[in-house]
Amino acid sequence: EIRAILVDKDAAGGYRAAVTRLDEADLMEGDVTVRITHSTVNYKDGLAITGRAPVVRRFPMIPGVDFAGVVERSEHPALKPGDAVLLNGWGCGETHYGAYADKARVNGDWLIPLPAGLSAAEVMAVGTAGFTAMLCLMALEKHGATPADGPAIVTGAAGGVGSTAISFLARAGWHVIASTGRPEEADYLKGLGASEIIERAELAGPVKPLARERWAAGIDSVGSTTLANVLSMTRYGGAIAACGLAGGMDLPTTVAPFILRGVALLGVDCVLATRERRIAVWDRIARDLDKAKLAAMTETIGFDDLMRVAPEILAGKVRGRLVVEMG
Ligand code: NAP
Repeated sequence: EIRAILVDKDAAGGYRAAVTRLDEADLMEGDVTVRITHSTVNYKDGLAITGRAPVVRRFPMIPGVDFAGVVERSEHPALKPGDAVLLNGWGCGETHYGAYADKARVNGDWLIPLPAGLSAAEVMAVGTAGFTAMLCLMALEKHGATPADGPAIVTGAAGGVGSTAISFLARAGWHVIASTGRPEEADYLKGLGASEIIERAELAGPVKPLARERWAAGIDSVGSTTLANVLSMTRYGGAIAACGLAGGMDLPTTVAPFILRGVALLGVDCVLATRERRIAVWDRIARDLDKAKLAAMTETIGFDDLMRVAPEILAGKVRGRLVVEMG
């Protein structure tokens, strides 16, 4: 028997999520079966469990977009029982049964070996949030941005993407300005590497086409008015990597930052990043990760806590990262 969270729609279109028991035969198609030891909770997982936004695109579904575990059975030439693996993205928890279960059967091409020096708990503490933060940093670097250009802004700073983005940017030498709606977390954010803290409200006001230039780069997980203000405050020639919508899906900006200041808006998606890219990003994370900072931003919970934390992450109440010990 496999313990799992299953989300489904009832005949009336109502959305429900419940802990249930499945047989291994109920798992979806795939050439590798993994015993899941660790998972995590991202904003998107909160959406999938509560049904607050249409993340799940096939019903019923086991939510959970990333897991780490041990191969139990494999028909994949590169994987054998006992191998330690991780998976993030590829539609797991959206179109393919995901992480909130004791086991998953998946396409072996989606699995990558645990990066050198990182445990299953540590890769899940990084998780999709940290993976995406690193994708954002690498997008900025590919654009040519360097710490010598000026400060970098991180929005949604006390969240998962935000906390990991601060630590990665600081490690790469950036002067980090952290924007948060939780000023009481200032010491936490400084501990991760932020040099300055600003109030979320400073970026929530009416958007001017151009405002005072305050930063040369940024990682935004909030979207909406926040991202629009971030763009209008970006220095000439700067770049902002956008990956999230915790504040809304809209973007009430003008073309002024792009055509008058040459500002670049870099879009970042983690779900369909290629296998080669994933391995490169996880390698970089393994090389640059500050494990003390990772521990400071991580709280460990159990499978039984998942239903409780799903609405909490959507309400912006989770600090940093959550690791789920499947136990
Ligand atoms: P999270 O831990 O909940 O962090 C989001 C943070 O945003 C919150 O902690 C809060 O930070 C801030 N926030 C929340 N509601 C807000 C609001 N109404 N207005 C302004 N700020 C608000 O979530 P996460 O897992 O880091 O994900 C963050 C976002 O990135 C989500 O939208 C997620 O879907 C997206 N994402 C996208 C990708 C991709 O591939 N593109 C990958 C991963 C995540 P403060 O309390 O510090 O203000």
